[in-house]
Amino acid sequence: MKPCPCTSGDSYGNCCEPFHKGEAPPTALKLMRSRYAAYALCLPAYIIDTTHPQNPHFSHDKIKWLQEISTFSRTTEFRKLDILEVEEGEKTATVTFKAHLFQKKRDVSFTEKSSFDKVEGRWLYRSGHLFVPSR
Ligand SMILES: [Zn+2]
Repeated sequence: MKPCPCTSGDSYGNCCEPFHKGEAPPTALKLMRSRYAAYALCLPAYIIDTTHPQNPHFSHDKIKWLQEISTFSRTTEFRKLDILEVEEGEKTATVTFKAHLFQKKRDVSFTEKSSFDKVEGRWLYRSGHLFVPSR
């Protein structure tokens, strides 16, 4: 049983894999977890597909964007995801989390409050607000 990279404690098959294979995550929290897992597994197309077109990081240069996400995934160790606060609404939601990340043994962990919008039945990552880096 392969543990899910989102560190939920569940198996990948029971957790984020169905979303990576095309199922729509039923909640913003599940979308958020599956995006973390997609970064950990280097699935840049999933990150792009779940980013709202009005997100400041949204890029129309998809090839360059794919490469940037891949580079980030390959050079980062995704140790743990802590969910700190969740507010789920009908069409909008926020998830505050701490991502425990390392690059070349350097702690690059961060805490973010992410906003999500539901567009045509699918949750999309709208924007993120970074907190002061916690080291
Ligand atoms: Zn998962």
